[in-house]
Amino acid sequence: MSDPFLLGAVYGLLIAVLSYKLRFLTASGAAAAFILAVLIYGVGEWQWTVPILTFFVLSSLLSKVGKRRKASFEHVFEKSDVRDAGQVLANGGVATLLAVASITFPQYEFYTSYLGALAAVTADTWGTELGLLARGSVTSIVTCRPVPPGTSGGVSTEGLVAGVGGAMAIALSGYVWYADVRTAFWIVVAGVLGSFVDSLAGTLVQARYRCVMCGKLTERRTHCSEVAEQTGGHGWVTNDVVNWVCSLTGALVVWATTIM
Ligand SMILES: [Zn+2]
Repeated sequence: MSDPFLLGAVYGLLIAVLSYKLRFLTASGAAAAFILAVLIYGVGEWQWTVPILTFFVLSSLLSKVGKRRKASFEHVFEKSDVRDAGQVLANGGVATLLAVASITFPQYEFYTSYLGALAAVTADTWGTELGLLARGSVTSIVTCRPVPPGTSGGVSTEGLVAGVGGAMAIALSGYVWYADVRTAFWIVVAGVLGSFVDSLAGTLVQARYRCVMCGKLTERRTHCSEVAEQTGGHGWVTNDVVNWVCSLTGALVVWATTIM
């Protein structure tokens, strides 16, 4: 059992089954999580596993917080809180590619950029999940005008604080392995910037639809069992595409600061 990939398969199976049972992941999401677990534990054992596990556990739990209050927004979002393979790969794909790349080119930057990618998706998830519970005002990141809670690109103080908290959690989760305050600072900045880019892309280029039956605005291609009418954005820019961009931004910001 000394082969880390074999051990990764054991842990991955455990996580996949547990996440499926707890309704954190769909069957396809659990299968994707298993593959990511084998690769990441196999490549970097606990040093690489602890940060992504921090993201996964805390984000999954937060999705369940205030579920009743959030239910009023469910018709808006493309995806539910039970994550599928597309969401798992959108949140963990860039991080996993960096982990795999680090086998060929073992460099410090791969690890810190990996943390940047995870900080961005964590800041985004925490900001969205807790921002939805905000009671204060919500401002559009694009127009700087007040918008209703749950609006794509809406930013609240609560969401911003939660986003910074999420990025800090990731910076801390890997701290013993890079042990540098300046790097920790940039990981948090990268996370927050990544979540801003996510909000901007979500507002400006993500496909938007209006239900032809109930008239509600939504990210979903179908609503009330009917194909919805596209009102803006590009058809191929789904929520998953926006999340890929978010994590890539986080990774690139940290990478840029290490070569400065
Ligand atoms: Zn509808």
